[in-house]
Formats: sequence, C-alpha cells, structure tokens
Amino acid sequence: MAHDKSRLTTTVQVEGFRAQLRGEVLDPSSPSYNDARVVWNGMIERRPALIARCRNAADVAASVSFAREHGLAIAIRSGGHNVAGYAVCDGGLMIDMSAMNGVRLVPGLDHAIVEGGATWGDVDAATTPFGRATPGGLISATGVAGLTLSGGIGWLRGSHGLSCDNLLAADIMTADGKLVHASETENPELFWALRGGGGNFGVAVSFEFKLHAIEPELMFCGPAYPEERADEIIPLWRDFMKTAPDRLSGLAEFSTLPQDPSIPEHAWGHRVVAFAHVYDGPADEGERVVQPLRSFGEPLVDFSGRMPYRTIQTLYDGLFPKGRDRCYWKSTYLKGLDGDVIHEIMSRMAQRPSEMTFASIWKFGGAVQRVAADATAFGDRSMPFMLSLDAIWSSASDDDANISWVRKFWDDMQRHSTGRLYLNFPGHGEGTNLVHDAFGAEAYGRLQKVKRKYDPENVFRLNQNILPS
Ligand SMILES: Cc1cc2nc3c(=O)[nH]c(=O)nc-3n(C[C@H](O)[C@H](O)[C@H](O)COP(=O)(O)OP(=O)(O)OC[C@H]3O[C@@H](n4cnc5c(N)ncnc54)[C@H](O)[C@@H]3O)c2cc1C
Repeated sequence: MAHDKSRLTTTVQVEGFRAQLRGEVLDPSSPSYNDARVVWNGMIERRPALIARCRNAADVAASVSFAREHGLAIAIRSGGHNVAGYAVCDGGLMIDMSAMNGVRLVPGLDHAIVEGGATWGDVDAATTPFGRATPGGLISATGVAGLTLSGGIGWLRGSHGLSCDNLLAADIMTADGKLVHASETENPELFWALRGGGGNFGVAVSFEFKLHAIEPELMFCGPAYPEERADEIIPLWRDFMKTAPDRLSGLAEFSTLPQDPSIPEHAWGHRVVAFAHVYDGPADEGERVVQPLRSFGEPLVDFSGRMPYRTIQTLYDGLFPKGRDRCYWKSTYLKGLDGDVIHEIMSRMAQRPSEMTFASIWKFGGAVQRVAADATAFGDRSMPFMLSLDAIWSSASDDDANISWVRKFWDDMQRHSTGRLYLNFPGHGEGTNLVHDAFGAEAYGRLQKVKRKYDPENVFRLNQNILPS
C-alpha cells in the first residue's frame, strides 16, 4: 500500500509539473521519450526519469525548481553533441532546450539574440541572408550553448576569434531560479566564467553575439593527398600557415574517405591527409591565397570551391549522423609541429583500429591569439596547434580497442603538449584532474569562486565540472 501511495504522489507531482510548463514533460511511457533521450554519441544509452522540453525561461525555472525539490540530477541538452554525453542522465531530469532555438537579429545587424537551445544551423539560417555571421563550429547540428560555453573553434576563428570571444552577453537561469544577465558591465565575473567554463553556472536561456559582415561566397579549400605523403606535406602546410593571412582558418586531417555520394568513387576507402580551410574574404582573393595548399603535388581528390558560408557550414553534416556511431574524442594542445610530432601522428594513425576514425591538427592564430589569457575562462591562447583524436566505430565489441588506442596515443603525445586540452573534446570526461588541469590552478580557483556564488550546491554538475570547493 505504502508503495502505491508513493507512486500516486509521484504521479500527482509529475502532473503538477506538466501543468506548469508550456512545453511537454516526457516520461518513459511517452511516445517521443526514446527519440528525445538520444544524443549524438551512439555509445551513450541513458534513461532520464523525465524530460522537460522547455519553451521559455519560465519552463526552465520550473524545471530547475522541480528537480531540486525532488532531488533529481539535472542534465542540460541543447545540440546533444557532447561526446561525453553530458546532455543526458540516468534517472534524473533532462532539461531539453532544443525547442528554444529562436534567433533574433537586432536592427543595425551588429548583434543577434540566440536562444539557449539553438544550433549553429539555426544561427546561420537567420544571419547569413543579411550578409552577417558569427563564428560557430564546423557542423550545423552542434548546439550553440555547449560549443560556446567551452570555447568554440570554427572556420572564422582567424578573423574573429572563438565563439566565446564573440559573446556580448548571456541570460543565465541559476540554481535558485533567478535569471541573471551577464556581460562586461553586469556580473562581469560570471561573464568571464561563461566564456570557457562550460554549463557550470546555470542554464543559458539566451546569448547575445556580435555579428560580422560575411561575403556572399567564400573560398573553401579541400585538397586530399595520399596519407603516405603526410611527412612531406604537413611540414609544407605548417610553414605555409606561418605567414598565411589571419582570414584563412583551417586544419589538416588524417582520415579515410568514406563511400559517400559526395566523394568521387575512385577515392573511396583511401587513407588521406586532407586540408580543410576557409578564407573569410572575397572569393577571388581566397582562391589565390589557398592555391599553394592545392599544389603540393597531385591531390587524390580536391573538394575546393567557392560557396556561401552557410553551405560550408553544412559540408560535413552528412558524415556525422546523430546516434549512429560510437565515439571517443580527446584533444591536446601542441607546443609545435616538428618532424617528430608529425612522424608520431602518422605512425599512430597507420595503426588506427577503425577506418571511420580521424585525427585533426587545428591551426590557431590570428584573432584567437589576440585575446589575453585572463580575459576569458578559456584561458591561454598561445598554443599554435590542437590535435584532436576522434575515434569513431560501429560495434560495442570494439569499444575497448578504440578507446584504449586513443588513450595510449593521447598519453604518448603529452610530451609534445602544452599540458592542456580543449574541454569540448574531453574523452568521456574521465580523470580526476581533467578539468582542473585543462584550466590550470589559477583559472580553476577563479572559476570555483564564481561557482560558489552561483551554484554552491553543485546542482549543475553533469558537465566539465568545477567543484565549488
Ligand atoms: C559532430 C561534432 C562536431 C563538432 N564540431 C566542433 C567544432 O567544429 N568546433 C568545436 O569547438 N567543437 C565541436 N564539437 C564539440 C562540441 O563543441 C561539444 O560537443 C559541445 O558540447 C556541443 O554542444 P551542444 O550544445 O551540442 O552540447 P549538449 O550535448 O547538448 O550539451 C553538452 C553540455 O553543454 C552544457 N549545456 C548545453 N546547453 C546548455 C545551456 N543552454 N545552458 C548551460 N549549459 C548548457 C551542459 O553542461 C551540457 O551538459 C563537435 C562535436 C560533434 C559531435
């Protein structure tokens, strides 16, 4: 009887919660529950007790309050792309922000207000028809929130910096249900923390981003050379990038070209080192600037061409479907890219357990490096490169082989590393000192102070977690 009574009470409470929200509250019996709990990484299989599909700030406040009252862990989901799977939890409340995806351009077109659950596709669709853009990520389905709150590395970083560098303000729903505005002038410490410190301080209900003029077409540079030539080609790329204009952003990638209709059939299954760069300026100028990258001998295939920025933002979407593959992605910032480093990356990639896996060397410079280390929680910008090891495979029986391959590769690269990593590519978030080491002692201490002020009980802990004490 006691058991029945508590179930009845719970049902009544859930119904009360449902009645409070403009959005839906899903439970395991709801028809859309199974779809709503799926995140991008197919390895992540968790079942929240409830999913609140918020429609406005009041829904978010009610959700935070309901979770706290009933002792439910809170997972916040925007794009659901976090590879560690922080967006979904077992048994707690998933605050699903994905229906809050509005983007409002402000007259004058120098900034836009973006709701907390929007994707970069939502932002680009709203801004690019007006000849405006703000730096996002490389895939249109990635969430603005998760990407920006931990930094945000995209095609426009050389000219305009990281996504978080373009944040002008944010509205945050804190653990005690207050909506707090953070900007350079209002709650500046919180604003500092939000630009790199992740989802630790509350639910971002909206962001305000600076917008920049963007040409109607940009030059995308995408030659792919046979991987066995990597030790010859990567040094050419490295040296070329030393004097390349800031407007050119990109990466070099070891990958295997998949059997995809977007790729010429003769190149299917070939291991390549490919360049992917975007020139943020007139396409004619861009075409001239990138020409040397396309002329390191005969590319196996060359995906280069002029296209609208919005098209570039979706070029790789088809290769990254939601929930299909199993993934473990981990990064490290490199001190440099000498012959030893290149050789090490080449020989490890030759042993990759899965042909779906890739490794990318992201070049930093330009506007990213003009931001002072203490200006944002993202911290130091002096690293010239980031290496991300992106293992992708299909079968659970290959989990160990792939994860341990990345871990060993990552461990061995530490002698070439600055010692920090990018928290948007944090493996599965494991390791006791992972977050502390990513920030360093000083920034971590400063973040802890902000955490103590806005979330002293660590209500928002399913993330790259900063402990209040
Ligand atoms: C296919 C793919 C491509 C990627 N490409 C890039 C890239 O080009 N550049 C790059 O920098 N990164 C990239 N990433 C990494 C990406 O930035 C992170 O995975 C990021 O966490 C995704 O954000 P999301 O909103 O989709 O995250 P979600 O999985 O929805 O959420 C992750 C975490 O972010 C926080 N969070 C989410 N929404 C909110 C909110 N509204 N308020 C407060 N906290 C919130 C929470 O802590 C949550 O636990 C990529 C990832 C994938 C899977």
